[in-house]
Amino acid sequence: MTLTDVGLRARVLAVGAHPDDIEFGCGATLTKWARSGSHVEMLVLTDGSKGSWEPDQDLAALVATRREEQREAARTLGARDVHFLDAVDGELEDDAARREQVCAVIRATRPDVVFGHDPWKQYRLHPDHRRAGQLVIDGIVAARDPHFFPGAGRPHRPSRLLLFEAQVVDHVEGVDAPEVDTKIEALLCHHSQWRSTMGIEEASADFEAQREAFRHRIRAEIATTGGEPFKLITDL
Ligand SMILES: [Zn+2]
Repeated sequence: MTLTDVGLRARVLAVGAHPDDIEFGCGATLTKWARSGSHVEMLVLTDGSKGSWEPDQDLAALVATRREEQREAARTLGARDVHFLDAVDGELEDDAARREQVCAVIRATRPDVVFGHDPWKQYRLHPDHRRAGQLVIDGIVAARDPHFFPGAGRPHRPSRLLLFEAQVVDHVEGVDAPEVDTKIEALLCHHSQWRSTMGIEEASADFEAQREAFRHRIRAEIATTGGEPFKLITDL
């Protein structure tokens, strides 16, 4: 059975460090699978409270905005639900308390396929991405065995783990143009990140050109690899 067959009617949990990471990492694949009958849910680990270049930003308002943007992006991709752990952005820790929370979400959502950051990606600077990757893996190990966190739900063992931002790519999920367009639409739901992450300045005279350049960037990335690239782990 190929991975795509698994995805067609699978239960899927995608885990990201920040609002927008899941869309960047696997947005077109989630769209494809949701459209073909998979049940997709998301888990966002941090509150996104560092996601602004404005020194005077109201951080509580930013967190609320980013949650709503994430929900809108999830709806756009066809995901059914988004779970938030609300760790402080930039301060995510792979400790026992967080592992228990991730384990509990895996046991509650019971995914066949899990998506997450590759914790072994070399020379990556952002600590949340490293730790988010580690937490997904440690959460899966805990979720499958009954003696880890017995109060956090019934054990569950996913069958596939797909790591995005992969150091070693060994699976490329083919996606078509409408699926890529939906990924872009979902990314653009993260309006608060247009300036800092996507190079789109609303006040700029070049606004339309910048938005088009962002669309082009995502399409070009996918065209270069022939789909969305992952490290696939099946020995779970
Ligand atoms: Zn991120």
